[in-house]
Amino acid sequence: MRISAITARPVTLDVNPDIFIQSSLGKHRKSPYVLVILETHGGVTGFGEATVMPRWSGETQHSAVAAIEEILAPPLTGLDVCDINEALAIMDREIHANEFTKAAVEMAMWDAWGKSLNTPVWKLLGGQRRDLSIPLKISIGAFPPAEAARRVMVAKDRGFKACKVKVGLDVRGDLERVAAVRDAVGPDFPVGVDANGGWSESQAVQAIPGLERLRVNMIEQPLARWDFRGSARLRNLTPIPVMIDEGIFTVHQAMEAIRAGACDIISIYPGKNGGIRKSVQIAEMAHAAGIECVIGSNLELDLATSAMLQVAVSIPNLSARVNHDIIGPFYYLERITDPLIRIEDGVAWVPEGPGLGVTLL
Ligand SMILES: [Mg+2]
Repeated sequence: MRISAITARPVTLDVNPDIFIQSSLGKHRKSPYVLVILETHGGVTGFGEATVMPRWSGETQHSAVAAIEEILAPPLTGLDVCDINEALAIMDREIHANEFTKAAVEMAMWDAWGKSLNTPVWKLLGGQRRDLSIPLKISIGAFPPAEAARRVMVAKDRGFKACKVKVGLDVRGDLERVAAVRDAVGPDFPVGVDANGGWSESQAVQAIPGLERLRVNMIEQPLARWDFRGSARLRNLTPIPVMIDEGIFTVHQAMEAIRAGACDIISIYPGKNGGIRKSVQIAEMAHAAGIECVIGSNLELDLATSAMLQVAVSIPNLSARVNHDIIGPFYYLERITDPLIRIEDGVAWVPEGPGLGVTLL
């Protein structure tokens, strides 16, 4: 089924003010994203979502729309929707980086391909390797200790069974926040931390004994995104697994992180990695190196959340010890697809409908 047109449409949603995210990168109160509509000569339409945040990837709503309509759509028009590998090569040739933008186009191709075969994307990826319910953790922003503790209890009441706490500002305040969360949830509730690259190496070294005392189950992106060697040194100081998130967008960055021994866990998701196919490639490479994958998040809407779930259910090495951040839709009061991704009792359900299983209203 050949592509007849690819268009992009901006969409901006407010994050629920009661639960917005605050990290060492700043506050996330609004989501100015882009939707992709991919039409085919066979009459099937595929949808994709570019979860663009300039502080995160350097992409914006305007840059994504321009890249899709002016640069990517012309050479992709006429391809078959199953020509994912060829489309990825074309996109990498036509424009450097812009992973979230490319992922949105690729996502729409998977959606259209799945719909044309009346099958979910995860079956095209080789089928399910685990239950269709994926366990989640809630992300607790870098708020004062009492507020962080309040928020984790709200999430616990709503069914979440694990959390991570944003750190990476100042070590003392960071540890006070994690301690308040640990006190609130009790000794057995999994608590991780995510520094978003905010610590220097000496700050991370200083934080580690406190994190061990507080029984933290993983340390996400402790150091700046380029510092694989520093991250490898931290791994030698603690039994707590170290995860790389911002440091690994591409397949090549994943290879370099593995070569440097930088991590025990790699955070993946289609937006950051430039598409579903590339997230799976990174997962398979990590698996060969004995490294687990956790699904990360950039506060996706339901379309990109479905893309994350398609990956989560099909890869060989989804972490069973650290839960996943497939929580984007939880943060919005307004939703724009039908059906919606089901998030309840601390799990997200992989959609069983054709393609991504959720369609733009
Ligand atoms: Mg992260």
